[in-house]
Amino acid sequence: TVSELCDFGLIGLAVMGENLALNVESRGYKVAVYNRTTSVTDDFIAGRAAGKQFVGCHTLEDLVKNLARPRKVMMMVKAGPAVDAVIDSLKPLLEPGDIIIDGGNTYYADTERRTKEVEAAGFLYSGTGVSGGEEGALKGPSMMPGGSPDSWPHLKPIFQAIAAKVGPNNDIPCCEWVGPRGAGHYVKMVHNGIEYGDMQLICEAYSMLKEGLGLSNDELYDVFAEWNKGDLDSYLIEITRDIFSVKDAASSSENGGQFMVDLVLDRAGAKGTGKWMSQLALDLGVPSTLVTEAVYARGLSARKDERVKASKVLKGPSPKYDGDKKQFIEQVRQALYASKIVSYAQGFVQLQAAAAEHDWPLNYGDCAMLWRGGCIIRAVFLDRIKEAFDKEPNLENLLLNSYFAGAVDQCQDAWRHVVSQAALLGIPVPAFYTALAYYDGFRRETLPANLLQSQRDYFGAHTYERVDKPRGEMFHTEWLDLR
Ligand code: NAP
Repeated sequence: TVSELCDFGLIGLAVMGENLALNVESRGYKVAVYNRTTSVTDDFIAGRAAGKQFVGCHTLEDLVKNLARPRKVMMMVKAGPAVDAVIDSLKPLLEPGDIIIDGGNTYYADTERRTKEVEAAGFLYSGTGVSGGEEGALKGPSMMPGGSPDSWPHLKPIFQAIAAKVGPNNDIPCCEWVGPRGAGHYVKMVHNGIEYGDMQLICEAYSMLKEGLGLSNDELYDVFAEWNKGDLDSYLIEITRDIFSVKDAASSSENGGQFMVDLVLDRAGAKGTGKWMSQLALDLGVPSTLVTEAVYARGLSARKDERVKASKVLKGPSPKYDGDKKQFIEQVRQALYASKIVSYAQGFVQLQAAAAEHDWPLNYGDCAMLWRGGCIIRAVFLDRIKEAFDKEPNLENLLLNSYFAGAVDQCQDAWRHVVSQAALLGIPVPAFYTALAYYDGFRRETLPANLLQSQRDYFGAHTYERVDKPRGEMFHTEWLDLR
């Protein structure tokens, strides 16, 4: 009978898939699971799944047979060709109306293509961004579903049951329909890009406090604990606070007993979602400078050996700040907050540009709400972004919202002070700089692009518009003749 069949199928039992499967089952659903390497399935069924409503399957045929229709089959496999391989294997086994879901970190354009291909074969497809790491997957991730709109009514009850919850009554799920085709994976990518910016900004604040003021890890713990009580209240500030309290086990090495953060090598890694966002920003012609600087900063950090050599050759000022310590800590906090606002403003501008290009009817207030819980960038501050877009769904730039305009204005003296001190002290804060430069560029009615257009017309006859003629009317001057 139908009641014996499973409600949900999950393919790929690595950390994310296993935890997500446990999460779905814990909400009262019966789950069929499959992993390419069958021993992984067997171990899961005998281990963490023991005594629960799971059916372990050794073949995709078996998985499909065990699912109630319309079948909902979620892939949590390595992003890339593996996803196409699994889809190709599933296609001959499914029936019209069945739903294939990709919950991995897939490049949005692949999801655009796959949605069309899977729909053409008579099935429904959902590219769903899942954030929150393994703990999120188990206890409540942030979920960003996109794809075939007809898939949503079937996925909604399960996805909203397993997602993180926020709000005064803890009942607003961080999962709402994002948009057609690759929209969900694009929003997930922007989430990751914003995460890059947030992390870089926190590292720059750390650098100013550590190098400029010479704060100890204990003092840094107290500063971040304090910051987490105000506008900056967020998961990333909270874990940063905690990092400053962790010491290596005394027995682990000759340096055991020291603070972990001082034992970690300063060479950053990256998996590429920040780079994707930055590349796509260039394609769209939108200035997402925070994520780009954050990617570059990781790149510079990775060139450790070159930096070690350069540090012995290239000179700079002493990084010690000799002004008021307490006041400077507060100024760094304000610089961080203002830069963070610019970073989110840029992220939403990129989402708007992508939505226009791909014809996705995105709801930006919902996007802010999806990130409110469960994911790495979760922060109280996102409530304000939701309010801003709920009030003005077509808000062109968050900086034009009165709350954020006021917040940046309040911070700007401190922000300018910190950026100028960073330059004077020789402490690199590329994300603080670029955020301020964006703010100053965006708020100016005139920029020096009049000269740029003159240069382009001078050497390449690229033509220009005039301030005294209608927009779009193009002119060319023989500059040498007028001299
Ligand atoms: P992963 O290491 O990305 O992938 C391993 C899983 O993919 C295994 O189950 C593996 O099966 C399966 N697989 C690989 N190639 C396959 C193929 N050709 N056919 C069938 N199955 C194949 O696992 P993960 O870290 O759990 O991540 C899963 C997805 O979630 C990825 O897209 C990842 O980027 C995304 N994600 C991860 C995190 C995180 O914190 N880890 C957070 C958000 C999103 P075998 O056991 O047979 O090798």
